Amino acid sequence: AHTLLLYCRAGFEGEAAAEIQDRAAALGHAGFVKAKPGSAYLSLHLYQACAEELVRRIELRSLVFARQLLVAGELVRELPVDDRVSPLLAAAAALGGPYSDVYVETADTNEAKALAAFTRPFGRAFEAGARRARLLGGGAQAPRLHLFCLSSAAVWPALSWPGRRSEWPLGIPRLKFPARAPSRSTLKLDEALQVFLSPAEQAEYLRPGMAAVDLGAAPGGWTWQLVRRGLRVAAIDNGPMDDELLASGLVEHRREDGFRYRPPQPVDWLVCDMVEQPGRIARLVAQWLARGDCRRAIFNLKLPMKKRYAEVQRCRELIATELGARAHRLDLRQLYHDREEVTGYLR
Ligand code: SAM
Repeated sequence: AHTLLLYCRAGFEGEAAAEIQDRAAALGHAGFVKAKPGSAYLSLHLYQACAEELVRRIELRSLVFARQLLVAGELVRELPVDDRVSPLLAAAAALGGPYSDVYVETADTNEAKALAAFTRPFGRAFEAGARRARLLGGGAQAPRLHLFCLSSAAVWPALSWPGRRSEWPLGIPRLKFPARAPSRSTLKLDEALQVFLSPAEQAEYLRPGMAAVDLGAAPGGWTWQLVRRGLRVAAIDNGPMDDELLASGLVEHRREDGFRYRPPQPVDWLVCDMVEQPGRIARLVAQWLARGDCRRAIFNLKLPMKKRYAEVQRCRELIATELGARAHRLDLRQLYHDREEVTGYLR
């Protein structure tokens, strides 16, 4: 296939496009991008039939701005009102199959979500037809079929493979806001832990009794996630922390400057959500790791500037420079709960 289909946050199509083009180019492949600003998706049309190779070699988790990375077939347009299913069954059969299952999706925009009245009944009708046509039931290792609905008349069939995709529909995790958490940003750290750490890693690296530092902690949404998992947290912020959180006995609130604070003993985790220039945060986090003040760090980089992709690349380089020859791994992703920002995981 010649086409990659990517989902992203609305408004970040340019960043996602620059990133996937750079990554394809690094593997010797080129193509042109189609991306409408604000549409929350884009396609890369490759000059060679290398789309499957690229999704194999470019791990979704290594991309910052893409929520989902799919190999796309041909966009099916002008679906007849009286039978939208048949042309798509034909398109799905032309792409391969049998598939493990089918996701009927739209872009993550208000406009596209209004299509739900169409996608739900259409999805049920398609699934029934696909079962009859033996296009489903391929087992867990078979590719998943995605039907990306641009409108009720235009649907794009695309494929993903286990281990190389986001399992969440639209690449969006459905996290419930915990009623007792002190702030909405609690979901950012919850999502980060689930995206960056496998369930086994979460069990191993987030154990009761472990120690963490939260820079820019107030009112305590991130601290709350760590306390919920039994960690002891030094919460660094001049602002007030949530009383109930302090009553847990696991939190030490220190009204100090997050750029100056150093832990008396090395800690397991550093988390940082201070609103500051991204370069300053990147350097600070790398210094913590380089000195051995923490073993792992999750941090947020705010991106209010125009050149957001370039800024993220610059932060990557700053971290690499600070850590020099020390072995380290860095993941950077724009999470669903991130707005004009991205989240990093350094260890
Ligand atoms: N993660 C928090 C939560 O979930 O509730 C929200 C953090 S809020 C986005 C940013 C915080 O960083 C503010 O409370 C602010 O006081 C704090 N902050 C900004 N600069 C700081 C600094 N130099 N030292 C300590 N805290 C700082």
